[in-house]
Amino acid sequence: MTTASALRYDLHCHSTASDGMLSPADVVARARAKGVTTLALTDHDGLSGLSEAADAAKSLGLDFINGTEISVEWNDHSVHVVGLNIDPSHSEIVAGLDGIRLGRATRAERIAAELEKVGFEGILARTMTYVGNPELVSRAHFARALVEMGACREVKQVFDRYLTPGKPGFVPHPWPSLESALGWIRGAGGVAVIAHPGRYRMSNKQLGQLFEAFRALGGEAIEVASGSHTPEQVAHFGRQARHYAFMGSQGSDFHAPGESYVDLGGSQPLPEGVVPVWHAWQ
Ligand code: AMP
Ligand code: MN
Ligand code: MN
Ligand code: MN
Repeated sequence: MTTASALRYDLHCHSTASDGMLSPADVVARARAKGVTTLALTDHDGLSGLSEAADAAKSLGLDFINGTEISVEWNDHSVHVVGLNIDPSHSEIVAGLDGIRLGRATRAERIAAELEKVGFEGILARTMTYVGNPELVSRAHFARALVEMGACREVKQVFDRYLTPGKPGFVPHPWPSLESALGWIRGAGGVAVIAHPGRYRMSNKQLGQLFEAFRALGGEAIEVASGSHTPEQVAHFGRQARHYAFMGSQGSDFHAPGESYVDLGGSQPLPEGVVPVWHAWQ
């Protein structure tokens, strides 16, 4: 029998349906091998990996949660909102995410044009060799192609030198509003979660304003334990979750073996006293 302490949750990860490097079924198999008992697949701006992952989870005996990670714009910051336990057939979220992916195609061409200007000839074609879902070209795909072309040794350095605001390959993009994303997630019966709050370049004051705005729109949780958070950040956002009466989520943000901060199931646990987000659907 599985005891409560043997349960391991990973509620944030990516497959080839967005910018991960494993197929949805392979993500599930790897999660199981790492001891994950409840997994949410949260590909960027789309739902196309969910049915394959759900089937794999069923055959391997994992609990599976339908999810997505929506790119939004809030006060000139780009913010990610994870939707958990959504109905992937709900028409509004399906249409909303379709719209984001349409915008990504033009953005990819513009990013490529900027990178061509600084000498990376043929960057779009190189990038496309890394893309699993042609509707979802991400900066992560550009980063992998730039590493291959010798721009930097590692994907992380490529972001610092080329793909972030103020750098030659960064193109500002009009993502949907926080309000739209919350409407889609809640309309689909899901719980909205601010992804990796420790990663935004915001002051504590701005982050507090984001949390207030998010809560006013029906947001219910923040990612306290993210693979990209330090232990200090996990403790800090645990206190923030309690202060704002948010539930806490935990997830690896796994993209690929050897590339991500931690592997599947590898985020820290939630600190004492934080209400786990899975209480919302259990
Ligand atoms: P996009 O949604 O196309 O803007 O791409 C964002 C994706 O790039 C994120 O989901 C991560 O996978 C990746 N990413 C963003 N910043 C970094 C970074 N500093 N280091 C490594 N990967 C990053
Ligand atoms: Mn990503
Ligand atoms: Mn993210
Ligand atoms: Mn992510």
